[in-house]
Amino acid sequence: VFKNVVRAPDIPVYAVMVAYREDPSPVKLNLGMGVYRTEEGKPLLLDVVRQAEKLLVNDLSANKEYLPITGMPEFNKLSAKLVFGDDSPAIKENRVITVQCLSGSGSLRIGAEFLAKHYHQRIVYLSQPTYGNHPNLLAAAGLSLKTYRYYDPLTHGLDFQGMLEDLAGASSGAIVLLQVSGHNPTGVDPTLEQWEQIRQLMRLKGLLPYFDCAYQGLVSASLDADAQSVRMFVADGGECLVAQSYSKNMGLYGERVGALSIVCKTANVASLVESQLKLVIRPMYSNPPIHGASIVTAILKDRDMQSQWTNELKLMTDRTPGDWSHIIRQVGMYSLTGLNAEQVAFMTREYHIYMSSDGRINMAGLSSKGVSHIVDAIHAAVTL
Ligand code: PMP
Repeated sequence: VFKNVVRAPDIPVYAVMVAYREDPSPVKLNLGMGVYRTEEGKPLLLDVVRQAEKLLVNDLSANKEYLPITGMPEFNKLSAKLVFGDDSPAIKENRVITVQCLSGSGSLRIGAEFLAKHYHQRIVYLSQPTYGNHPNLLAAAGLSLKTYRYYDPLTHGLDFQGMLEDLAGASSGAIVLLQVSGHNPTGVDPTLEQWEQIRQLMRLKGLLPYFDCAYQGLVSASLDADAQSVRMFVADGGECLVAQSYSKNMGLYGERVGALSIVCKTANVASLVESQLKLVIRPMYSNPPIHGASIVTAILKDRDMQSQWTNELKLMTDRTPGDWSHIIRQVGMYSLTGLNAEQVAFMTREYHIYMSSDGRINMAGLSSKGVSHIVDAIHAAVTL
């Protein structure tokens, strides 16, 4: 009955991973998938995560009972504080509803499903370029996609004027997906002054901010500083959505831990929204898994473990090799090198270096001993 199924195209970042695995070369490098790697090329397991897992193993009161549909209440509370700040008035006023979801992707999808069902506008604007799975996650929920200018290939920086023009021309009430910090794939973030202008324009036009927070703490090593953009929008009393991921900043990739928060105007609206979020989640996967959220909760609720986490984030963000000025200016885990698809193919073929065909490299996948190899490869590629 399935013989007429058409073969789907490979998903690019996974295809790069398969090609990397199959390459026998000892000098191969994988800079495709956004994973923070050790000098040995293995995903970094944080000491503080190891410590939290030991605590969980020894906790005899723990069991495998189902979580509520909206996840672990303590995890949700701590996640909201992490992104909105300990003293956030919106949290104190009970205007924020936070639900545990399956990492950043799952949170984005739940938020998109909620918007498709309960928001009057279906148009969502994405930065040009953006994270490859954003269009899929949002379109699958039935939202219509448009783009706003973001990256200027000539300056390798932000096309701020273009961004403002496109937002000014957006349909009233449209949803705008914004990356909180550490923009994927460009590594280019607006300054706080630029964020303030973006905020004013969006509020003036009644555009709905949908924040994707996948790299908090991996840009400046300050969890607070990396969340400033979203906090500016919350401080004005208006609405927004935030999808949080612990994949990168706690190295919990496969545990699938994240949260969706919806900031509302009043506590009453927040409770209505929560009731509807349950109806979105229940028919999809019923309720989220326990283990990863328990790790995050153990770390966030303990002052010492929180500060150990911050120290580890500092070590992670300090590792920034590279010698092109735009690479140094770009923030977060990624860098859009400016290498084109032909140069990328050359580097894979001749140097066994695997990366996205748009020239994005995952800087956090690069060990110090890999630096000279990639420098040689880039030099050869640009002098082809
Ligand atoms: N948003 C952005 C900007 C990302 O880069 C990623 C992962 N690379 C995600 C969301 C989703 O990641 P996850 O589902 O693992 O949290």
